Amino acid sequence: MTQAHPKTGEEHMSYDDILAASGLTGDRLQGGDLSVTTPVDGAEIARLKSHTREDAERMIAAASDAFRAWRQVPAPRRGELVRLLGEELRAEKENLGRVVSLDCGKIYQEGLGEVQEMIDICDFAVGLSRQLYGLTIASERPGHSMRETWHPMGVCGIITAFNFPVAPWAWNAALALVCGDPILWKPSEKAPLSALAVQRICERAMERFGDAPEGLIQTMIGGADLGQALTDSRDVAIVSATGSVPMGRKVATAMAGRLGRCILELGGNNAMIVAPSADLEMAVRAIVFSAVGTAGQRCTSLRRLIVHEDVYDQLVPRLISAYEGLPIGDPLAEGTLVGPLIDQAAAEGMAAALKRADSEGGIVHGGGRALEDQYPGAAYVKPAIVEMPGQTDVVHEETFAPILYVMKYRELDDAIGMHNAVPQGLSSCIFSTDVRETEQFLSAVGSDCGIANVNIGPSGAEIGGAFGGEKDTGGGRESGSDAWKGYMRRQTNTINWSRDLPLAQGIKFDI
Ligand code: NAD
Repeated sequence: MTQAHPKTGEEHMSYDDILAASGLTGDRLQGGDLSVTTPVDGAEIARLKSHTREDAERMIAAASDAFRAWRQVPAPRRGELVRLLGEELRAEKENLGRVVSLDCGKIYQEGLGEVQEMIDICDFAVGLSRQLYGLTIASERPGHSMRETWHPMGVCGIITAFNFPVAPWAWNAALALVCGDPILWKPSEKAPLSALAVQRICERAMERFGDAPEGLIQTMIGGADLGQALTDSRDVAIVSATGSVPMGRKVATAMAGRLGRCILELGGNNAMIVAPSADLEMAVRAIVFSAVGTAGQRCTSLRRLIVHEDVYDQLVPRLISAYEGLPIGDPLAEGTLVGPLIDQAAAEGMAAALKRADSEGGIVHGGGRALEDQYPGAAYVKPAIVEMPGQTDVVHEETFAPILYVMKYRELDDAIGMHNAVPQGLSSCIFSTDVRETEQFLSAVGSDCGIANVNIGPSGAEIGGAFGGEKDTGGGRESGSDAWKGYMRRQTNTINWSRDLPLAQGIKFDI
């Protein structure tokens, strides 16, 4: 069955077929308490049964049992499970990409990109499963050696946001699994179908693997109360949470109360500095992709543009005209670059921010609703550019929508000062061909973010580097580099192979 794009008449698979291709059919999608609507047109596409708090307790207990077995499986063998998961994901890339698009409204190309990111992190984790290296350390005592070993940590709870319904799970899951930790996923209640599709894929990988312990990979469906079940339980050693800053504060507080470990990936307010020497052609492409991609609903979306006064009048009119031609529409249809916002509340949040920006002296280009006649139940918006007289209050906040605030600067020090003067610290970039400027931006007196780029936009990170940010973004790191250490416990070992017992620091204690 096909479904026609109302504007272009182009046809794509029907919602039912998209779900069925990922094995999501029948009773499982009906009769439950959780209404799942697609942002594509606001239609209800499933009614899922939420897990209860008691279900969550049972799942945590099953994960704890799985830990006792999984921690004893050699890490390269654990890597084999993740290798199989990567294979299954490769086979399901298009199907899952479509479910992601239907579930959260991002364009199909970005849905595919998310699944590719899952595949990439699986590949990375498979290699990592043979490289969970510790150090050997010089001992001050004769006949002694010291080393550092890394052991599995325990059950890892993973809480995710609606806008990236699958990739952040994979950044956590692939690493946690090779590190020896069972995983328990609480996806966003706004985009739970992608998670159900992924759980099925995991089940196939586990079946092929053969002897994965029961409870190793689980998904629970429901709202914040299930996330709280993870943060409240001492049997969940790690909670890795992706989402808004207010959610992160609650998770951090609950975890601090029981001195548990948390990895936080929270909101961003990402900026680009465009210097006088910038290649403006490249800058325009980077700005448009990173400001309107995923309809401005990426944690790394470009939200602030700090432009040198000498190039402002060349750059800003080009951006305004590029924005005017952006194809807004059905995210599953080919050629669409801007899909819908997740829901009406998001569109209202955007309108409220634009109103505030106007009252704070901004000149608004674009904004407003789009395609209301074709999709009355959805929340399509026109991306907005707002020329601001300075970095006013509204610019300090993350509005999860395609609003790009543009400001002028004269001196680079001032631009960096403005850049760092917001509460969030996720991603950042500079467009410049002057090495003095770019190196300053990357130095200790430059960007204060976890990610700082040169001549590329702030979004679209590769999995090889550690991902995360500072300040209100939460300080967590996931994905590549040595982020795996967040999923293991470090043990320092001192081994005495001599026949004496010398004490450290030369202390005498003769008995
Ligand atoms: P949200 O904070 O509303 O929800 C995120 C998840 O947290 C959901 O699964 C929700 O059920 C759960 N949750 C809410 N309250 C909780 C609590 N008290 N305890 C435990 N779990 C709780 O976020 P959202 O609207 O889905 O996503 C948008 C936000 O996520 C934006 O701020 C965006 O920047 C951020 N985000 C950050 C990253 C990153 O890597 N830094 C990635 C994606 C999204």
